[in-house]
Amino acid sequence: MERGSLIEQVLKGKYYPSKSFMEADLGTSPSYTWRGIWEARWVLRRGMRWRVGNDEKIRVWDDPWIPNTQTLRVLSPRGNVSSDLEVCDLIDPVKKCWDPTVIAGVFFPFEQQRILNIPLSNRLPEDKLCWDLEKSGVYSVRSAYRALFDDDWKMNEVAATSSLGIWKKIWAVRVLPRTKDTLMKEMHEKGVTIYDIVEVLKRTPIHPQIVPAIKAAHDAGCELRIVSDANTFFIETILDHLGLSDYFSEINTNPGYVDEEGRLRILPHHDFTKSPHGCCNPCPPNMCKGLVIKRLLCEHGNKKFIYLGDGIGDYCPSLRLRESDYLMPRKDFPVWDLISNNPKLIKSKIHEWTDGAEFERVLLSLIQAIITNADANQFFNLDCKFESLPISSHDAMPQALRVPI
Ligand SMILES: [Zn+2]
Repeated sequence: MERGSLIEQVLKGKYYPSKSFMEADLGTSPSYTWRGIWEARWVLRRGMRWRVGNDEKIRVWDDPWIPNTQTLRVLSPRGNVSSDLEVCDLIDPVKKCWDPTVIAGVFFPFEQQRILNIPLSNRLPEDKLCWDLEKSGVYSVRSAYRALFDDDWKMNEVAATSSLGIWKKIWAVRVLPRTKDTLMKEMHEKGVTIYDIVEVLKRTPIHPQIVPAIKAAHDAGCELRIVSDANTFFIETILDHLGLSDYFSEINTNPGYVDEEGRLRILPHHDFTKSPHGCCNPCPPNMCKGLVIKRLLCEHGNKKFIYLGDGIGDYCPSLRLRESDYLMPRKDFPVWDLISNNPKLIKSKIHEWTDGAEFERVLLSLIQAIITNADANQFFNLDCKFESLPISSHDAMPQALRVPI
């Protein structure tokens, strides 16, 4: 979205007139265009970094400004240092260089060196946002793709299937089931078979600790359920491939089946052409996951729930959890943004996670704590809903294909 373009002006006027694009809220009743763009900001966050000048724009603790690091953010603990500290406070304005004394008092030694190595221009120009994944500092689709598809599996998959375009189609931008159904029709007409799709699904990358974590949760007595905006065909194919079919007691998602012509059909979980589901939260018209959780809370009100999620659609169920429940949002993903806007709206305890290893650690320690504190006859639900979890941390997939396991 080019700055100053017509679409940028329209969206800014409607959704973020007094904020920057990266700070904009989703707003109530967002259009599909805005919702898609808003939700894709996490891609920008992966590679966006401040180039240090001498303004008061960069917050030391909250902004990405440390180059050549995975997170681009400060790792040293804040301790007693002010949360308002700005990067310009670390610069000697007279000598126009870093102030080593101030820096030594704030950061770990390894991080002090990283900061001191960041070059400063004698002119001390304005702080400027740049794209860290290109030398030029300018965003490019190619570098964004490289960042998203930076393991061999994904690159091979793209290469192996590019002639059919199957990969592009399956992992397309997030769309309603009706549009996905049309994409499947198009693929079917071009000769892509259901077996081709199954083979791609089977190669979905899963962090090695996810499957054992799910089995451990099940063996500890959790009832596992899936609440997803993917479809039954994708989910059942992947669960079957991973040997997890018997570990989940319920799958709530869009119906997906293969018709007599061998074409994959995808229908909406909620038929919004007849009537809307009536939820006021930012849920897609084809599915309100909050209504599913509401039903489960009614049916199993005596049990504790652990809810895992990362997308916008996971915000509504998060709001419905009770004080006795647990929410595990994936940090720096859309649901995390929405929760962070006003954490007080969440009644349950919040335990964030970032990658597969942390997911396993947090989940199993929560289960252990619940088991330790629960009386012997109390069971609890684990409402497991999360997206396909890539092999390395932060290497999230495009949000299109929502394949929970
Ligand atoms: Zn809802």
